[in-house]
Formats: sequence, structure tokens, C-alpha cells
Amino acid sequence: MSSPQIVWLRRDLRLADQPALHAAAKAGPVIPVFILDQDRAGDHAYGGASLVWLHYSLESFGKSLGARRSKVVLRKGDSPQILAAIADEVGATCIHAMRHYEPWWKEAEDELKDALGEDRKLCLYDGNYLLPPGSVTTGSGDPYKIYTPFSKAMLEVMPPRDVLGEPETFSSPDEWPESDDLEDWELLPSKPDWAGGIRDFWEFGEAAAHDRLEWWTDRVAEYDEGRNLPSEDLTSQLSPHLHWGEISPAQVWHKLKDKRSDGWKTYAKEIIWRDYAQNVIDQFPDYPRESYRDYDERTLWRNPNAGHLIEQDLKCWQKGMTGYPIVDAGMRQLWQTGWMHNRVRMIAASFLVKHLLIDWRFGEQWYWDCLVDADYGNNGVNWQWISGTGVDSNMFSRIMAPLTQSEKFDAADYIREYVPELADLSDDCIHDPPDDKRGDYPVKIIGHKEARERALEAYRASKT
Ligand SMILES: Cc1cc2nc3c(=O)[nH]c(=O)nc-3n(C[C@H](O)[C@H](O)[C@H](O)COP(=O)(O)OP(=O)(O)OC[C@H]3O[C@@H](n4cnc5c(N)ncnc54)[C@H](O)[C@@H]3O)c2cc1C
Repeated sequence: MSSPQIVWLRRDLRLADQPALHAAAKAGPVIPVFILDQDRAGDHAYGGASLVWLHYSLESFGKSLGARRSKVVLRKGDSPQILAAIADEVGATCIHAMRHYEPWWKEAEDELKDALGEDRKLCLYDGNYLLPPGSVTTGSGDPYKIYTPFSKAMLEVMPPRDVLGEPETFSSPDEWPESDDLEDWELLPSKPDWAGGIRDFWEFGEAAAHDRLEWWTDRVAEYDEGRNLPSEDLTSQLSPHLHWGEISPAQVWHKLKDKRSDGWKTYAKEIIWRDYAQNVIDQFPDYPRESYRDYDERTLWRNPNAGHLIEQDLKCWQKGMTGYPIVDAGMRQLWQTGWMHNRVRMIAASFLVKHLLIDWRFGEQWYWDCLVDADYGNNGVNWQWISGTGVDSNMFSRIMAPLTQSEKFDAADYIREYVPELADLSDDCIHDPPDDKRGDYPVKIIGHKEARERALEAYRASKT
């Protein structure tokens, strides 16, 4: 009998189109291993909402494996050490894994190669992105830094590779290494259980991801118009499924690629944003932590750690109590469901960095903790884009007007859903309610004109 094949799972919890699992299953009995290695990621260890998703995704993946008389071996601790020890124990000579681009995973891959030595190897596979980061390059062979030319170059080489099915044969070892019990990890909150909104909003796992894609196939034509309307259900909501690797972008692309609508063309470019973000963190591993423009950031930002009033502003934003209904609806949607509509993610992020002049990293960390799709690349790249601090980003001086945005994109029903204090207000006044119609809802934390002038002044002063 051939020797056992370890599959090191990270954010790739699917059976189909999973090249690492596919190759392992062809080579011998498969031992799927997931290690909860929180210390390694430092300030980007999984946040609360991510842990909830991880619990249900692992549970679902475990059931799918169970149907094939297999299971996931769960361990907690240092990935390279644990994997090398399991390889010793079962006599495995190859560990298969999908490639990941977060700096702590790249570091872990290097450490694992060292720990495995000469006789055993780590085999890495691509497949969580349309193309491996760094593979589409400029005429001079450099990776792209700017989204628009990157996207054009990607479109020229699409479609992505063909998708793989589930492994045809799947055998298990005679002896399994020890595994923790998922329940003992206590990934779900209990006191209090704040995850009810997440459970109500989502279905988890590979089958749910494909159901959602099926649902989306009939709607993608409306995406071009609909994607900016938070009151409508006209985005795919595939982001957590893609992030956790319950579905691959190649599967999404091939399912939709024959659609001839403008909706599909626009949607394709959004999926490419996801690849772009990985290209950025592959080139700039600290991107979600460091600004890349020459501002004097001590002059630009108000620091919540340096004053009670600034800290209060941050808290109002986090809790959805800024007095700007569209911002508060978004922040409450995030808190309840672990997700926020993209248009509103932009408005709320812009409000924090421009209206409140709070360093984007505080926002990045809050989204990181609250999003079920919290993604090192996507989150960092989008925060820097909004803040005007990244390698490809909006100008800092471009300040979104939340009230105008709310009206323009018809957010009345969205506000009614997430800010029930305002549910009885008419479409005319719900975007910017007069003070006497606000009831228990707070007045604006700062006026738009005043905030805009303050931001522009700080911007001028910070330009070095
Ligand atoms: C400040 C800010 C922070 C963000 N943080 C994250 C994050 O942590 N994780 C995350 O997946 N997305 C993030 N986004 C991007 C975007 O908001 C979400 O991907 C999108 O809202 C997910 O919903 P959807 O699946 O319905 O998207 P759709 O509109 O249906 O798009 C399809 C897919 O394309 C990808 N995509 C779409 N827009 C973007 C984008 N701007 N950047 C990168 N990929 C994109 C996602 O994988 C998404 O699932 C952020 C955006 C902003 C403005």
C-alpha cells in the first residue's frame, strides 16, 4: 500500500476543484489536517466572526469527508511542528497544500520545508485564485501595482484553468493520528451568544456555496445596475465562501462565463479585484498595516488612544451611532450578520477616515474582527484605496458625501431594516432626518461640511 498523504488545509475547505486534495487522493490514503495556528498571524489572527464561520465550515467539510469514510484531523498550535510530527508518526513523505499568500503562511511554508528535511517534501498547489499572484506581469516582467492595467492583462488571458471534479477515489489510512474535538475549540461565542444573526443570514460550507452560485446565475445580468443598491439583493454574497475556499474562483468563472450581459462583464472585474489584492500582498506583505504614501500621518490622523473624545467617535462608528443613517445601517449590518454591502463598506470606511479623521488601521481591525469574509488582502487593499494611502488608491481629497450617496443609491429600505428607530420615516427624510424626527436616534456626530473642511485642512498640513 502507498504511504499516507497529508493534506494541510487552511482556507480551502472544499472537495471539488481542490488541487492539493486531488493530487493527494491519487497518490495514496489521505489524511486531511487543519491546524488552528492563531499566534502566527499576530494582529491578524482570526477575528470573532471568522471563528464562527470557521466552526461551521469545518463541521460541514467534516460531514462531506465522513460520507467518504474520511475525516479532518484537528490540531491546535504551531503548524510546521505539528505537520512534521504527524508526518513522522504516519510515515508520510509528502504534505500537499494549497498555496496561500498571507506573510505568516508563507513563513510557515518555509519553516515546514526546513522541518521536513531532504527526504520528505511539501507540495504546493495553485487554485484559490484565478491565476497565481505574480504570474501576470507588465511588459518589463514586473508584477502590476495598479488595478486597471492588471485587470486588462488578466482579461486577456482568461478564462482560468479548467476545474477539477471531486477526487474519484478517496482512501483512508488504517490508523488515524489523534484529533481534537471541534466543540472543544469553543470557536462559537456562548456568553453571550452573539452569533445568531450570522447563523440566520448564512448557510455554510461547499454545498451552500454552490447553491448560492446557482441562485446568482439567474441574477448576474442585473449586477451592473444593482450592485450599488444596498436595499436590493443584487450582489452574489459569495465572498465568505470564496474566502474560506468553499468554492474556487475558477468554478465561479466557468459557471458564468457564457453569460453575455454587462452584468457578467462587471462581475468578472470584481472577481479580478480579489486576485489583484493577493498580487498586492504578495509584493507588499505588510500592506494591511502600512501606508504607502508620503503623508505625515501624525498630522493627518486623530488618534483614538490619545483622547477620550476621539475614542468616543470611534466607538460611535463601531456601534452604528454616528447619526448618519447609511453609515449606521452598514455598521449594524456588519455587527449582526458579519457582512456589509460593498457600497456601504466604502461609505462607512470613508466616513471613519475622512469625516472622523481616524487612522484607517483602526477601521481595518474592526472590519477584520467583524467580517465573516475578513481577508488580509481584500480588506487591506480596500481600506488603503478608500483612505488614499495605498499604491493604487483614491485621492485622500476625494471625500464621499454619505447623505448624497444614501439618496442616490436608494438606501431607504436598507436603513429601515438595520436602523429600526427610523423605520417609520418617509423616503424623503430617512436619509437625513430632521432633529425633531429622530426620536431615540442620535444627532449627527459632526456636520458634513465641517468634517469635509477639517479633513481637507489636515490633508494639506500632512503633505510632506
Ligand atoms: C473598506 C473595505 C473592506 C473590505 N474588506 C473585504 C474583506 O475583508 N474581504 C472581502 O472578501 N472583501 C472585502 N471588501 C470588498 C467587497 O466589499 C466584498 O468583497 C463584497 O462586498 C462581498 O460581497 P459579494 O460577495 O456580494 O460581492 P460581489 O459584488 O458579488 O463580488 C463578487 C466577488 O468579487 C470579490 N470582490 C468584489 N469586490 C471586491 C473588492 N473591492 N475587492 C476585492 N474583492 C472584491 C469578492 O470575492 C466577491 O465575493 C472590502 C471592501 C471595502 C470597501
